[in-house]
Amino acid sequence: MVKSAVLGFPRIGPNRELKKVTESYWNGKVTVDDLFKVGKELRAQNWKLQKDAGVDIIPSNDFSYYDHVLDLSLLFNVIPDRYTKYQLSPIDTLFAMGRGLQRKATETEKAVDVTALEMVKWFDSNYHYVRPTFSHSTQFKLNGQKPVDEFLEAKELGIQTRPVLVGPVSFLYLGKADKDSLDLEPLSLLEKLLPLYVEILQKLAAAGATEVQLDEPTLVLDLPKEVQAAVKTAYTFLGNQAGLPKITLATYFGTVVPNLDALKELPIAGFHFDFIRAAEQFDDVASIIGANQTLSVGIVDGRNIWKNDFAKSSEFVQKAISKLGAERVIVATSSSLLHTPVDLNNENKLNAELKNYFSFATQKLEEVVVIAKNVSGQDVSAALEANAKSVAAKASSTFINDPAVQQRVASIDKKMSTRAAPFGERLAEQEKAFNLPLFPTTTIGSFPQTKDIRINRNKFTKGTISAEEYEQFINSEIEKVIRFQEEIDLDVLVHGEPERNDMVQYFGEQLKGYAFTTNGWVQSYGSRYVRPPIIVGDLSRPKAMSVKESVYAQSLTKKLVKGMLTGPITCLRWSFPRVDVDQKTQALQLALALRDEVNDLEAAGIRVIQVDEPAIREGLPLRAGAERSDYQQWAAEAFRVATSGVANKTQIHSHFCYSDLDPNHIKALDADVVSIEFSKKDDANYIAEFKDYPNHIGLGLFDIHSPRVPSKEEFITKIETILKTYPAEKFWVNPDCGLKTRGWEETRLSLTNMVNAAKYFREQYKK
Ligand SMILES: [Zn+2]
Repeated sequence: MVKSAVLGFPRIGPNRELKKVTESYWNGKVTVDDLFKVGKELRAQNWKLQKDAGVDIIPSNDFSYYDHVLDLSLLFNVIPDRYTKYQLSPIDTLFAMGRGLQRKATETEKAVDVTALEMVKWFDSNYHYVRPTFSHSTQFKLNGQKPVDEFLEAKELGIQTRPVLVGPVSFLYLGKADKDSLDLEPLSLLEKLLPLYVEILQKLAAAGATEVQLDEPTLVLDLPKEVQAAVKTAYTFLGNQAGLPKITLATYFGTVVPNLDALKELPIAGFHFDFIRAAEQFDDVASIIGANQTLSVGIVDGRNIWKNDFAKSSEFVQKAISKLGAERVIVATSSSLLHTPVDLNNENKLNAELKNYFSFATQKLEEVVVIAKNVSGQDVSAALEANAKSVAAKASSTFINDPAVQQRVASIDKKMSTRAAPFGERLAEQEKAFNLPLFPTTTIGSFPQTKDIRINRNKFTKGTISAEEYEQFINSEIEKVIRFQEEIDLDVLVHGEPERNDMVQYFGEQLKGYAFTTNGWVQSYGSRYVRPPIIVGDLSRPKAMSVKESVYAQSLTKKLVKGMLTGPITCLRWSFPRVDVDQKTQALQLALALRDEVNDLEAAGIRVIQVDEPAIREGLPLRAGAERSDYQQWAAEAFRVATSGVANKTQIHSHFCYSDLDPNHIKALDADVVSIEFSKKDDANYIAEFKDYPNHIGLGLFDIHSPRVPSKEEFITKIETILKTYPAEKFWVNPDCGLKTRGWEETRLSLTNMVNAAKYFREQYKK
């Protein structure tokens, strides 16, 4: 009998219960007991759900109040001194490390002021983890026993679980040295860390756990030899300890083949591999499974929302069975289900046909169970039949297939993805037409999204104000933003984006081929959840999406107004993509829709158009090699298809955040002007990387995540540093990113200082 397994379940609750209670706790509206009560209820609910679905191997310790990697830092006492010195409770220490804490002194409590630890993207997903931060003073010891407590909690409910922890090598490798210990190599701490894994696993065994799942997702990265060696060391050590639960080493999000040597002959119970993202690794990984080891086949997608194809998956699992025998094969989700929305049954506005093609975390439980039963020879014919019907219906769905779009993508040629003239010629025409000063100033697009804006948008969504009333409101907001920018004397203005809820959703809602959920939330970090739109079919633009607002803004001023669009790669990356066509095709479809929009903006008199690609970096495949260069090539092509339909004198801008950009990749986009997040980066090396960038560039001059107002002198110093390396005639002056989350007062002060600094340099360069 083949078993079914789930690697992790969303912790947020079907109705975002976790967000509501944690935020209430942070605001002092509920007590810590209220918080823990909701946590306990959510865990119980998740376990029961999985048990009732018939899942054999159910995870525990996948729950977290903030982030499961941060939980582990707390568990192993990897807590920098700046947090321990306040002697907060464990949960408050966890939150302080995750999100910082600033608290005035009261009669009972001391004042606290500490910033958060660094947060980074979890591989190529949109989840973010808090980086384990080690220093020479880190004292490894067990701090509580969360994994044991949660295991016992499930046991009390009569549910045997498999506790899951991030493994020792990934925990260290994904971490970093604290600023007081920069010479420390986290991996060198392995020897000190391993005994703690032994200790917690012993406690789990004593509590009755027979198996554990240790996640080592770093194994899908390009690993230096010493990291591969560390994997071998760690699991040889753990596997040889007597009396521990059986260890399954789990990897996901890619292929482990280049690191396979590290996994050979490890004395552990089994492995889990992701065959959704890397089906091609099957023969290689199957060849290292030892005589008594199990293979957990990740075949139900933990990262996307499409229904599984039971026939295809069963066939795949069968391959494993014929090699290893049914007893040694497990059918599993490809990764934790953390990255999918909780329950499709919460969607009552979705089109019924589309709904029939989707599967959220709750539905995926049934999927692993059905596939496991099917390959075990049990009768699941009703489920198979319904599934086959849905798969067939999807293949011929008119929602999904639009021959006109497919034809248009096929007809993309070199000319469509190349501007009419090279940058130098375009620039000459633009300079003549625009007459901008040296050090032109601009912003990245959005201005403060005030409460008033949210209230009016809600009223419009609910139908309590009419479309005309809403448009009037938006226009008045646009006018406010234009007057403000004129007043502080910016050079290239924006309309401020008061009409946009989100930079992808706003366009997605206007494109054919997108679907939206009402409750499809996925945790991005802490209590921030996102609701990714779903690309369901061939994408096209029925009508103009942003022209009205831009044209209105331009009608109010003699200065240039930038049209603002979200680029094809960002639309793709921040959505659930299709799996029936490749991502390049989806990017090109988006590019064509945006091309029409760019051309319409130009035709309506907008002479500067910015196409943002903040997500272009995160789309980069995890490993170096052909796949990565391929991505860079088609991502750039998609951008150029979107932006190459305009005349030479129309200026194309683009914007990127999350730095660490590859200047060559940016160069391939051939935008006339790019702006990049830079304020936290200002080291000479990073500037030098962009020195030879041929087109114009704005290096972000202030951090928009902070309410802090930089002085004019600070701007001057910063610009001076940049100008030591970077030529003045190519330099634009702008903030790091959009100002949507900022208040008006700090926006006014910061931008005024920034504009005055630009004027200072204009004077200097006149001389
Ligand atoms: Zn940005």
